[in-house]
Amino acid sequence: MSNQVPKPLPGVDELNKPFWEAARRHELVLQRCRKCGFYRYPAGLICQECASDDLAWVKVSGRGVIFTWTVFHRAYHPAFADEVPYAVVAVELEEGPRMITNLVDCPLAEIKIGMSVEVVFETVNDQICLPKFRPV
Ligand code: ZN
Repeated sequence: MSNQVPKPLPGVDELNKPFWEAARRHELVLQRCRKCGFYRYPAGLICQECASDDLAWVKVSGRGVIFTWTVFHRAYHPAFADEVPYAVVAVELEEGPRMITNLVDCPLAEIKIGMSVEVVFETVNDQICLPKFRPV
């Protein structure tokens, strides 16, 4: 990468720390309600379905489909100037939640709603590995 401006990184806090620790191991985890089984993302304090606070972090499949997508042709932050155009997608995970992320290893002209995708991890530094998705 030729530019000098670092990309903004996700904020890791006590609530989402297990998600980012798992990502460093290249595992995708979500909170799951022990009472009703509902998966939630992003991390929260209670279940969105039944309001229970009995949530556990569980490994999920890493598979899903593209719910919707767009291509960024303009760099809205200077750190992304070398990467435009690139795809931003909403992946609907098999477990239910939708994750805003990037699609990689896919020509932009081939992106389709409903396309099956799987998670891959991009190591940014010692703390952050970003979950991204590629076609299956
Ligand atoms: Zn619940």
